Formats: sequence, structure tokens, C-alpha cells
Amino acid sequence: MIIIATVQADFVTSAKGKCLLRVNGYTYHKIFASNGGLKVRWRCSTHWARGCRAHVHTIMNEIIKITDQHDHPPPFTSSKSAWS
Ligand SMILES: [Zn+2]
Repeated sequence: MIIIATVQADFVTSAKGKCLLRVNGYTYHKIFASNGGLKVRWRCSTHWARGCRAHVHTIMNEIIKITDQHDHPPPFTSSKSAWS
């Protein structure tokens, strides 16, 4: 099933130098790639810490499927500062 949704997505680099996908304020880790790396699966970056099941599939850096049912608020992102 493909969920058509208006999403705001971009690619960011974590403090550890890993490529992350950020969608609607949530960040996702790259966990799986197939078809020579064209198709990529991303899982919510809190999956291991909190068990969040949200994930995204991309092909050629375009989102083809998104399941963004998080059980937590978005993590802090560098584009917004809570202290400014
Ligand atoms: Zn999540």
C-alpha cells in the first residue's frame, strides 16, 4: 500500500556522520538497501531505544511509502532551537 501524503523531507547528517532522513521533524536511520542501493528502507531513529515502528521506503531519494505512526514526539533537530 502506498500512502500519498504531503511530507516535508530532507537528508541530514548526524553528529556521528551518518546519513539520516528527516520527515516532518522525525529522523530515520538507513537500515536496508536493495536493487543496487536504489531502494532504501529507513526506520525511525528511536526504534532501538523506544521500539517505535515508523518507517519509510525511498527509491532514488524519493519517498514511495511512509508509515509515520510514532509513539513519541519528534526529536530535537538542529534546524530549530528551543533556546532562541
Ligand atoms: Zn518514531
